[in-house]
Amino acid sequence: MRIVLNKKDMNMRQTRQKEAILSVVHGEGIHMTAEEIFAAVQEKEPGIGLATVYRNLKSLCDAGIIQKVTAEDRSFYDGCGDPHDHFLCTECGKIEDVPSFESRELNSFLTKQIRGKVHRHASVYFGICEDCLGERDRKITS
Ligand SMILES: [Zn+2]
Ligand SMILES: [Zn+2]
Repeated sequence: MRIVLNKKDMNMRQTRQKEAILSVVHGEGIHMTAEEIFAAVQEKEPGIGLATVYRNLKSLCDAGIIQKVTAEDRSFYDGCGDPHDHFLCTECGKIEDVPSFESRELNSFLTKQIRGKVHRHASVYFGICEDCLGERDRKITS
């Protein structure tokens, strides 16, 4: 059993772990909680630690490759780093991407309000998804 890893081995391992995380979380329409990501990454990289996963998620967020979105008491990682808005179903908890409306007026209005500078904004719309609406109708008619 090899105990001492040299720097090259460490770097290779780190690169492999990062790639495993990226393959799980990166992509359009992907919205996963840290727990879901951790479970999926563990299947590819058994033995990877939660702290390593968190550290990589943070650096991917910092690099703008993915982003962290918080809606009420829930946080999830979004596989698409570009700014966009979300729709959250309050019945089943499903999250969907929705187009965001460019509102320069709102940003410049808020910039005056806070007397600082607004760089970006992200909105979450709350409602009931198509599936849950259908489920409701079915209950009413049956
Ligand atoms: Zn729903
Ligand atoms: Zn999204």
